[in-house]
Amino acid sequence: MPAEEVTEAPVEVVSEVVLTGSGQGFGGQIPVEVIMDSDNKIKAITIGEHNESAGISDGAIDNMPGRIIENQSLMVDTVSGATTSSKGILSAVENALVSGGYDVADFKTEVAKEEITKTNETLHTDIVIIGAGGAGLTAAIEATQAGKDVIIVEKMSFAGGNTLKATGGMNATETSVQAAENIPDTVETFVKDTIKGGYELNDVELVNKMAEESAEAIDWLASIDAPLVQLSFSGGATYSRIHQPEGGEPVGAFLVEHLLDEAEELGIEIMYNTEATQIVMEDGVASGILANSEAVDYMIDSEAVILASGGFGANEEMYASYKPELEGFVTTNHPGATGDGISMAQEVGAGLTDIEQIQIHPTVHQGTSIMVTEGVRGDGGILVNQSGKRFTNELLTRDVVSAAEIAQDGGFAYVIFDQFLREHLGATETYIKSGIAVQADTIEELAEMIEIDPATLANTLKTWNEAVANKNDAEFSRSTGMEHDLSSPPYYAVKVSPGVHHTMGGVSINPDAEVLTAEGDVIPGLFAAGEVVGGVHGGNRLGGNAVADIIVFGRVAAQSANDYIAE
Ligand code: ADP
Repeated sequence: MPAEEVTEAPVEVVSEVVLTGSGQGFGGQIPVEVIMDSDNKIKAITIGEHNESAGISDGAIDNMPGRIIENQSLMVDTVSGATTSSKGILSAVENALVSGGYDVADFKTEVAKEEITKTNETLHTDIVIIGAGGAGLTAAIEATQAGKDVIIVEKMSFAGGNTLKATGGMNATETSVQAAENIPDTVETFVKDTIKGGYELNDVELVNKMAEESAEAIDWLASIDAPLVQLSFSGGATYSRIHQPEGGEPVGAFLVEHLLDEAEELGIEIMYNTEATQIVMEDGVASGILANSEAVDYMIDSEAVILASGGFGANEEMYASYKPELEGFVTTNHPGATGDGISMAQEVGAGLTDIEQIQIHPTVHQGTSIMVTEGVRGDGGILVNQSGKRFTNELLTRDVVSAAEIAQDGGFAYVIFDQFLREHLGATETYIKSGIAVQADTIEELAEMIEIDPATLANTLKTWNEAVANKNDAEFSRSTGMEHDLSSPPYYAVKVSPGVHHTMGGVSINPDAEVLTAEGDVIPGLFAAGEVVGGVHGGNRLGGNAVADIIVFGRVAAQSANDYIAE
């Protein structure tokens, strides 16, 4: 370069430095932008586009940047219930600091814990609801629509519980959606399928109630702006019965968002980070609860108590105590599914139904616990083993498919689907964005990526596509989820094994959602709905019946509580 063209760089005063980094969260990498000020202090942290679960991760996304900046430290507490996302943000910021040449040790100073002095408070309401999951939010809305005052206590920092994780849809029968497609489903068939799927262990009256009220529940959801308008097949169902949001987006996040919007509109109070510890009884009648937050011990007086605290699928000690062979299994459940409601109800004399009935789900990615919805198989996906072969009718009940999978070499399988299915079923985006799905333009390439013999996998797909064309699965007699073959590239595979999914057993109730003692007597003032309850699903829950259960019985619990108060 000629000498005269050399110009001296202007003296630049560097006031701020912008760094970028990313860290592994629950749904893949979380990118951050970190701004350092001229004193080498962290001035701002911006979280980029991420794929963390809506709701569950909100506490981490909203609070972690502030905590880090306030303390200038990466040693801050993670947000309870959103630990993986919190850790992802911490490591993203650490990576950003490292990339900028900062000494990370300077940002690993211990953070002093604040001393909190606890206070006592007494609150009064008509109905107190334990748990802001699907059943609790539904009950709260139904009760408020009928003019009652409601308080919900939720021990996590977010609403939605396991409901947030529901991906498939809601089973319902004799609905307008089915009528529009001339599907000849009936209450009787729904009941029959559910009881057959549950190995006839189900409480028939509860199943009848769920089926009978299911169409009205779909209308009710539409009335609160949460319409489920699309149909699919789900395991164990005779007809296309599972109702999904438009585009097949995951039903749980959709419902929780709309239930929360409605709750907010109705002015329903949700006390987050507040854990119920006891149901208070007065002269044999439920008259409130004890609950506590970090700063306050509450006595919440009420006319009625609705237990909607979910199951115990995240409490390994508890599920392994009822079913020892499940020790060491991963869970698909949110961290708050610890069965508190079951022990609280037992303490006031409630009976338990089918408590040892625990469902494992056959398609759980083990590293992340992300569950691949049954909808993938319902819409045409198949399962193959490491030899590249199908080994079961993929739409048999979850326990049967799980057992077939455990019997394969290594105890795992691959869910295979294609681009057509991806476009039809929004839930699949999570598998792609989180990086658990392997993707390839041809079946052979896909096979190579997952170390399956390409010719075998190609042959499996060929045979399957012929079965779909002829509506005849000669190998495994599958007869549903055969509307579309697997022929649109790219192709996808997710490696899966079974994981603990749903605790079918729980507190005993009658069809009015009144909690019963072991002798079958009603405990006055105490109602329960959702996964905390036993009996609806018997020995095995069909896909789509959890959502039917929470919406139907959430409403029933509120209606019964309203009637009880009016008496
Ligand atoms: P369901 O499907 O029956 O509605 P979910 O799992 O969706 O069940 O929701 C149950 C909710 O109850 C979760 O948000 C969970 O955090 C909450 N919960 C569980 N135990 C308690 C408790 N002791 N106090 C307050 N909330 C609780």
